[in-house]
Amino acid sequence: MDYTEGKGWHDPRIVPYAPLEMDPATMVLHYGQAIFEGLKAYRAKDGRILLFRPHKNMERVNISNDRLCIPPIDVDFCIEALKELINIEKDWIPTEDGTSLYIRPFIISTDPFLGVRPSKTYKYIVILSPVGAYYPEGINPVKIYVESNYVRAVKGGIGYAKTPGNYASSLKAQMEAKKKGYTQVLWLDGVEKKYIEEVGTMNVFFKINGEVITPALEGSILAGITRDSTMELLKSWGVKVTERKITIQEIYDAHANGTLDEAFGTGTAAVISPIGELNWNDNKITINEGKIGELSSKIYTTITNIQNGDLEDTLGWTTEVKA
Ligand code: PMP
Repeated sequence: MDYTEGKGWHDPRIVPYAPLEMDPATMVLHYGQAIFEGLKAYRAKDGRILLFRPHKNMERVNISNDRLCIPPIDVDFCIEALKELINIEKDWIPTEDGTSLYIRPFIISTDPFLGVRPSKTYKYIVILSPVGAYYPEGINPVKIYVESNYVRAVKGGIGYAKTPGNYASSLKAQMEAKKKGYTQVLWLDGVEKKYIEEVGTMNVFFKINGEVITPALEGSILAGITRDSTMELLKSWGVKVTERKITIQEIYDAHANGTLDEAFGTGTAAVISPIGELNWNDNKITINEGKIGELSSKIYTTITNIQNGDLEDTLGWTTEVKA
């Protein structure tokens, strides 16, 4: 669908996948005024197709839009349109083998204009891609490099928006961490380089002394939907969950005194990624003997079973895509 100043969003349509033709001066190519989302559709054993909390993703589109000066979308309309599109491609999601359908809505600024100002025209596009099971051979904890050199985002910046610039700014640190043998980077705050932010494309949780702690949303990290779901589940199980500032030193201290039980990342792609090792300034610690923790395992199973329709959705998290 398209946006034109004065006319609003218009011309929603479903067309075959094809390259986009663009003027070389198209604003998004130069100034990065764009946002995107990522969610999945799952197939239940009884054949139903389920979306996991799609309102949250679409509401986040508008949070990102606001920060990037992109006009808001109609959340309910876009969810209905998503369902229509998924229904056309539903054969991509077979039952049983763990395949799901990744959904990538995005918005780009389309004025052919050289000069920094918000665009007056935009395109909202949704593309789909089947993805295989994230853990076909079981969950393996990841090794994470604590980044002390590069910064991903600062308060007042665009860190809380799902916008391409955040990912572009993370690439160099990620490449360097990969060369050292680490899967992902754990970002610290951009000012004091001591408070924990998030991991790559995941929010992060630590279980210390029975309490689960996750960095508070203070404007520089993405408000993950899996993060929110994890907190809600933990609370429903009677586990104490705290959102607050937490320093990397606190994690190392908890490890030293034996109270760091588990650490894990949360995100749409993996649901849960247990953290088996941290490296902060060449000081390495192994968490939970490098094994998946009890809580990580329980959260993973519960969320994936709700997504796959194997567990009753008492929290109202799934939306069925009806034929
Ligand atoms: N942080 C960042 C930077 C991300 O890209 C993602 C993935 N969307 C997350 C956290 C996790 O968010 P969600 O649980 O909504 O996938």
